Order: sequence, then structure tokens, then C-alpha cells
Amino acid sequence: MSIATDHALPEVTLRIGSESRSIGVAFHEHVNPATGQRDARVPLAGSADVDDAVQAAHQAFSLWRTTPARQRGRALLKLADLVEEHAGEFAALAIADNGTPQATAHASVAAAAEWIRYYGGWADKLPLGRITSVVSAGGSFGHTLRQPYGVIGAIITWNAPLMSLAMKVPAALAAGNTVVVKPSELTPFSAMLFADLVRAAGIPDGVFNVVPGGAEAGAALVDHPLVKKVTFTGGPETARKITAAAARTFKPVLLELGGKSANLVFADADLDAAARHSTFMAFGVMSGQACALPTRLLVQDSIYDAFVAKVADIAASFKVGNPEEADTVCGPVINQGAIDRVEAMVARAQEEGARVVAGGARAGGELAEGFYYPPTILADVDPSSELAHKEVFGPVLAVIRFTDEAHALALANDTDYGLSGYIWTSDARRAIRLTEQLETGEVVVNGAPNAVTERPFGGIGHSGNGNEGGLEGLEEFFWTKSVAYGDG
Ligand code: NAD
Repeated sequence: MSIATDHALPEVTLRIGSESRSIGVAFHEHVNPATGQRDARVPLAGSADVDDAVQAAHQAFSLWRTTPARQRGRALLKLADLVEEHAGEFAALAIADNGTPQATAHASVAAAAEWIRYYGGWADKLPLGRITSVVSAGGSFGHTLRQPYGVIGAIITWNAPLMSLAMKVPAALAAGNTVVVKPSELTPFSAMLFADLVRAAGIPDGVFNVVPGGAEAGAALVDHPLVKKVTFTGGPETARKITAAAARTFKPVLLELGGKSANLVFADADLDAAARHSTFMAFGVMSGQACALPTRLLVQDSIYDAFVAKVADIAASFKVGNPEEADTVCGPVINQGAIDRVEAMVARAQEEGARVVAGGARAGGELAEGFYYPPTILADVDPSSELAHKEVFGPVLAVIRFTDEAHALALANDTDYGLSGYIWTSDARRAIRLTEQLETGEVVVNGAPNAVTERPFGGIGHSGNGNEGGLEGLEEFFWTKSVAYGDG
């Protein structure tokens, strides 16, 4: 093994109220994806631990919801500053958590701080209610009140632990809720530093709690009667279980799930920009392990061959390797299971007629012990095949040919998912037509970042429901009370 990873890892504990618990009901052996080596024992919370965390959050709710909004906001602004001050540590933890390449890790910390600051800014500027009628037939007066739910259960996945925290927790806290977070057992480290900084920012104990754990802890959080809303980021299969479980208590559930987002490249586009952006997005953002990535590349037939050659060249130029090196573009995937899934899907796609034009096999040599799979492009993918429909969540790009706009649109919307849609064209009218017609939660025209603070981000269909980001992301954490005053 030639990749050194000798950073000290924080001890993973359950953060419940003022308590830091080292033991849960079991342990998970954390494996560093860059090396394939075990490097930490992660305690897994059980249902009793989750109950304690929820009780702590429930007790803290009456204090937090009555804390002046300005004070809640100031604490979140302080937290944003602290996250920035600890950027280097967070970046190192992201590398340790899941092998995020250094450049992406640093960018994610900056983005996370912005999300926290954004919602800190909202805390005392919330339109907390509106007048529904001043004088009605009976001479009554009415208005609405936005009310925080109470305890929010947040269940997050492993691909971007700090960003997931930043996209959920500040909005929930700004609205006056308290939170119990269950990070993925695969990536527990970032949440430890985050919890330390929440406390350092002056947010009272119990307002934010962390229960690292697996499915058992997640299920216990969903089932708990004192958890009033669940916000989940992860895969559709887990989302189905969570939705079914939440139905028992009629609990609202916000779901941020996966995608198979189409990226439409028309012959009139700036093809160099389209090729650069499309390739980087498919591979350079967490080695394809992110939800909103343009993983289905639809290319107009008049430019198809040249464009495929261009993206294949760019993909082959990306450095795959040690995430700690500044010039690494593609780090490892999360674990052996992910490598196995990627290998199997690439093999099946080839059996279904797809042609490998870049990558196509697990990295060997000095990378053999880590979980590295180079950027892989499959051209001529059959639109009805598995690869055209199923999320790989790894560095695999499916390329499909289209003839005209109507064909492109039909292919793009031929999916159960509905998270992001990408359009490359110099024709503004076409772009406007397509933004209207793509069945996705967001549309990106000629390259723009996903998941920025001011814009709501979320999907439809198998990509979930609800939003993170923007005012919509804040409103997820209120219920509406309607108030009427009669003349009696
Ligand atoms: P997953 O669904 O397996 O796990 C996510 C979380 O759910 C983990 O914390 C896990 O421990 C927990 N969990 C597992 N079983 C549970 C249960 N029965 N009850 C409650 N919690 C349970 O996650 P995954 O499939 O490995 O994650 C990848 C998926 O996440 C992809 O589909 C990806 O697209 C999606 N994702 C979406 C977004 C977004 O914002 N839309 C962001 C990142 C990832």
C-alpha cells in the first residue's frame, strides 16, 4: 500500500444532550476507501440511545423555540464562522470519511458555511404569519402562524456528510426546531467536529444531537412519537421504508433521493464548455457519487462522434488517486460493495450493446487496495437498458444519441427520477421551452452549480419531495396554524 493516511481521527461518540457516549449497541469498523484499511471503530446507536437523544431534543425545544430569533440567528452565524475557521480540519475529515478529493473537500466546507450563514440570516427575518382576513362576514379577524414542529429527525447518507448537515440542520434550527441527526455509519467523522462547533457557537445542549448508527437507529428515529418530521437524504429503497414507517404516525417526511439526470447537448452549444463541464460533473464531483450529477449524456447525432471523443479525452486526463493530493480529480468510491456494483453494471451495459470509450475496469497497481474505479464512459447506451435508467452512484457516464429536440426531450423524461436536468444550447428559445418541459426539480442551462443556498433544491418522482435551500427550504420546518378571533 503506497497511500499514507496517518491523520488522527476524532473519537466517534453519541452526542446526546450534554453527554458524549462511547458505546452504543454495536460497533462498525470504518474502512478508509483510499487504502482499504480499517481505521476506526464507530459505535452504533440503538433504539434506547435514539430515545435518549429525542428526549434531550424534546426538552430543549421549549427553550430554543422561545429563544429570541435574533439570538438563534447569531448563534448560526457564529457557527458558520467557526466552520470556516476549521476548514482544514473539515477537509481532512471529509477525506477520512469517504475519500473526498482535497479540492472538492475544501469547496464543500466553504459551501457548507454559506448554507449555515444563509439560514442564520433568515432566523430573525422570517415572515412568521400572514393576515387572512381583517373583516369577514361575522366581523372576525384572522391570521396564520408559522410554528416550528419540535424535534426533527435528520437521516443522512455518506456521500457529503458536512454538506448534508449544512443543508438540513441550520434551516431546522433557524425555524426554532431541535434536531437529532443520524449520520451514516460509513461516514461518522465530520458530524463530530460539527457537533463540537455547534456547542462552541453557544447553541444549548440538546438542541442538536448526533446518533451515529445504521438502519436500526434510523428506523428508531422515524418511529419515535416525539419526532415530528423526518428529513432524509439517501436512496429510494430506504426512502420507501421510511415513508411506510412514518405513515404509522402520519409524520411528514422530506425526501432528497437519487437521480439519473439527463444532460442534453445540442449541436449549437459551446461544445468545449459543454464537454468540460459535463465530464467534470460526471466524475470530478465525488467520483460520480452525488445525486444531482448529469449521468445520462444525450448528444445530438450531428456532433455525436466528435463530442464523445472529446469527453473521452477529458475523462482520460483526470487524475485518479490519493484524495489527499491537490491535483487528484477522482478519489475512491465508498467501499468494496460500490466497486462490485459499478463493475457489474458496466459489464451488463456492455452485454446490452454499450461501447466503452473510457475506463471500464477497476484501477490496479498502487491503487489496487483502495476502492478506485477510473472515469468510465459508455457510448451507444440502449435507452431501454438498465444503464439508461438505474442510478450507478459511481464514475460511470451513459451516452445516448438523439436526433432533434422532441427526441431529446422524450429521452430525458423517460425516467422514474426527476432531480436535475441540464441543457447545452445557444438557442435561448429552445432553452426556455425545455426548462418548462423537463420533468425535474431543477434545470441547469449552459452550466451552473447545483445546490446553492438561495435556490430551492429537490426532486420529484423517485427523486423525492420537498426542498432544501431558499425560503422553501426553511418553510419545510414549519407547520401552519390558522387563528381566528370572533366578537364573542
Ligand atoms: P441509504 O438509503 O442506504 O442510506 C441513507 C441513510 O439511511 C443512512 O444513514 C442509513 O443508515 C439510513 N437507513 C438505512 N436503512 C434505514 C431504515 N430502515 N430506516 C431509517 N434509516 C435507514 O443511502 P445510499 O443509497 O447508500 O445513498 C446514496 C443515495 O443517496 C443515492 O441514491 C443518492 O442519489 C442519494 N443522495 C441524494 C441527495 C439529495 O440531496 N437528493 C444527496 C446525496 C445522496
